[in-house]
Amino acid sequence: MAERGSGEAVRLGASAGVDQTAVRRANLARVLDEVRRGEVVSRADIATSSKLTKATVSSLAAELIDRGLIRETGLRRDGAVGRPGRSLELDGGGITALGLEINSQYLAARGTDLAGRVIVERRLGFDAMRADPETTLDRLAAIAREAVTELAGTGSSFLAGIAVAVPGLVDAETGRVRYAPNLEWRSIPIAEALRERLGGDVPIVVDNEANLSALAELHSMPQPAADLVYLTGEVGVGAGLITGGRLLRGSGGFSGEIGHVPVDLDGQVCGCGRRGCLETKIGLPAVLRAAAPDLADRDVDPQEQAHALRQRAEDGGPEAMAGFDEIGRWLGIGVSMLVNLLNPGVVVLGGYLGTVAPYLVPAAMRELRDRSVAGDAAVCRITASTYGFSAAVRGASSIVIEEVFRDPLRIPAAEKAVG
Ligand SMILES: [Zn+2]
Repeated sequence: MAERGSGEAVRLGASAGVDQTAVRRANLARVLDEVRRGEVVSRADIATSSKLTKATVSSLAAELIDRGLIRETGLRRDGAVGRPGRSLELDGGGITALGLEINSQYLAARGTDLAGRVIVERRLGFDAMRADPETTLDRLAAIAREAVTELAGTGSSFLAGIAVAVPGLVDAETGRVRYAPNLEWRSIPIAEALRERLGGDVPIVVDNEANLSALAELHSMPQPAADLVYLTGEVGVGAGLITGGRLLRGSGGFSGEIGHVPVDLDGQVCGCGRRGCLETKIGLPAVLRAAAPDLADRDVDPQEQAHALRQRAEDGGPEAMAGFDEIGRWLGIGVSMLVNLLNPGVVVLGGYLGTVAPYLVPAAMRELRDRSVAGDAAVCRITASTYGFSAAVRGASSIVIEEVFRDPLRIPAAEKAVG
């Protein structure tokens, strides 16, 4: 992920032997970032803050305009009307990104333009736990194809990339799912399979749903927390770990499997085949068993189940309240491990955990205070996700957008009219 606004701009031709394309890329990204953060800025403003010459800024701005990333505006930052063409603002209406999500119970798509305006949103109930990978990928490709058509329908649009969120261990380099316990998928080349089905040469990346959700939450915060953990709360429980403002992926990209940390050696068998994982205590099936057993076997979208659970909590029946208290306690045990290891500033609850957060957090905080070795000094906030069940697919579309901001050269320049 590109770090916004950090470091000095690289001066063109500042040292011999520097890759000119890399220099140009970095400077274009710097100017684009200035426009994004300033909303409406002049070339002179950018020259001052980037320490590039005005001539260089003008040349870079012309190139960004040519690529459809920024445009000239008559408006000034203070809202007054200035001389036309003096100020710059983000354009990107013709540059789009598509996020896709494979969830154990649904498939989703979300297409936006560069400014984050949502152009297409789809969500389809789909039992990926029972379907084989080929069928699931066929359905996902069909949704993607529809979304791509809709994105293209918005004008002369350029699809910058597709990112797929998957509930499993992902080799992000190759776009292959190593292992997704709840889907029982092993070594599935998601990026390659989608590329075959969709044709074309749009870049396709694949990442873990918890990582993408964590990034979506991070971007949603006016003051992003440098140390944040996102917990997915569906059939499976995983963590997206952000430390020092960056995703902590681990050496092979397989960090964050908090759901498979053993908490009860004599407990139930988990989807991964091991016994007593945290997921068997706080995954959606566990809370349904504990708080609303009559809802447990209904084969419905997890979001609907979460709303039914929330209703049960609001009704305040003794069985439900005891169940939420028990789940909250196990949640606190899980969060205490994160707090003792990573000392996050905030733990964000996603999925059903977010929907019923008010009924889980009191017990979780009691447990956390009790188990935090550094005491209250290390106890963090536990909060519900801003985006609920759409966090992963939002994160997916946003990493494509962030990649464009990191490397504006990914977007082709407009073809010059001839004659
Ligand atoms: Zn497990």
